[in-house]
Amino acid sequence: MSMSTAVSVANIWPSTKRRADVKLAEEAALRLLAEYDVVNPPVNPVQIARRTGVEVTFVSFEGEDAKDISGFYDYEERKIFVNRDEPALRQTFTVAHELGHKILHPDWVATDDYKVYRRNNQALDEHEVEANAFAANLLMPRFMMDQFYENLSVADLSQIFAVSVPAVRTRLQYLYGF
Ligand SMILES: [Zn+2]
Repeated sequence: MSMSTAVSVANIWPSTKRRADVKLAEEAALRLLAEYDVVNPPVNPVQIARRTGVEVTFVSFEGEDAKDISGFYDYEERKIFVNRDEPALRQTFTVAHELGHKILHPDWVATDDYKVYRRNNQALDEHEVEANAFAANLLMPRFMMDQFYENLSVADLSQIFAVSVPAVRTRLQYLYGF
């Protein structure tokens, strides 16, 4: 059992693979917030995407695995497609995640390695880790969370930041260790 686990981990992290740069992702997100003077929650990632010249379209995906797809970025059209059949707060995170790919990985998104964003995204690839870090820092930057997290419940934070409860929990754990 432990042998096969070791093998699968090695396959996920081949030695040539670089590590995810979450610091770079954070800096890129904070730069955008500063540039567009966004200082209070909720952060609207659709508005920010459009300001950077990326269109955002909400659509129903068709096909067998369509319901698992949260969205993707079309680099030729400079357009983010979002699954409108998913919960609204999930859609918001999808937009921020795909914008992260566009800003952090402009060359990579044009390759076959780029994959659509799925509901059960495991974020094992360093590009996915970075896009998630970008999204978390764009929607829930530390300087905004610092103002609210001590006095508000997770449900309240979810409402104020317009981010799902699981995303808020992940962020609280990352920033403050609980
Ligand atoms: Zn992704």
